[in-house]
Amino acid sequence: MFRRSIYKTPAQLRAMIEPGFITAASLDAAGAAIRAGATTADVDAAASATVVARGAESNFKLVRGYHHTTCISVNEQVVHGIPGSRVLEPGDIVSVDSGAQFRGWNGDSARTFIVPDPERTEMIARREELSRATERSMWAGIAAMASVSHIGEIGAAIQEHLEANPPSAGGDWGILREYVGHGIGRKMHEAPSVFNYRTPDPGAEVKPGLVLAIEPMVTAGSEQTLIEEDDWTISTVDGSDGSHWEHSVALHADGIWVLTAPDGGAAGLAPWGITPTPPA
Ligand code: MG
Ligand code: MG
Repeated sequence: MFRRSIYKTPAQLRAMIEPGFITAASLDAAGAAIRAGATTADVDAAASATVVARGAESNFKLVRGYHHTTCISVNEQVVHGIPGSRVLEPGDIVSVDSGAQFRGWNGDSARTFIVPDPERTEMIARREELSRATERSMWAGIAAMASVSHIGEIGAAIQEHLEANPPSAGGDWGILREYVGHGIGRKMHEAPSVFNYRTPDPGAEVKPGLVLAIEPMVTAGSEQTLIEEDDWTISTVDGSDGSHWEHSVALHADGIWVLTAPDGGAAGLAPWGITPTPPA
């Protein structure tokens, strides 16, 4: 069986810049559409319009049986929520996962948004804390990718960041175990898997040409999840909130570039003293 190398050529990395930017733009549009009273279908439509306007196609729609540009997961839903008639309410925590395929190359990224609610500042603060911890654990993983020798160290960095920054209310964050990050390129989902936690397996070598979707999925309670009756949506068993952040990231000879960040990852990587460089 032909097996494609997990390491891409410089020309292939360059081809992944534009689908990354389009994916980022689709999430900008989704975020702008999130407000109390909007449906999750409205948010999906905003992302979809952006992907189409940029001459790309939705790679989520290429997944067998899936018919939307995004997955939108609200409150106790962590990932794979299906956009539809659900109306967003003040205080909802909303994870949006989007992607685009452009000239045969893919981007994949997710962000968590919180619908403002002036009435429930304490709940908002708890949800902001979950989202920030998840996002920063993703950046810890991306920063690790810039310097480590094996993929397993990326997952360890994500877990260590979450353990070192526990919820201020006490307890621990939950890290989903059954769902992981992945390689990305000609297909949205490629080898290798990128775990969000420490494993005994060191994993593949981290070297120029590697492109990974790094995507911690974190809960404010237990990491146990169930699949809803729609056969897609992944929700926490204990009803605790979930958050999902994801970037597609390219490592190349001159450094690292966060393909799905509008600034290439400059702001997110600054705390680690890393300056991203686009693949040349
Ligand atoms: Mg994704
Ligand atoms: Mg992904």
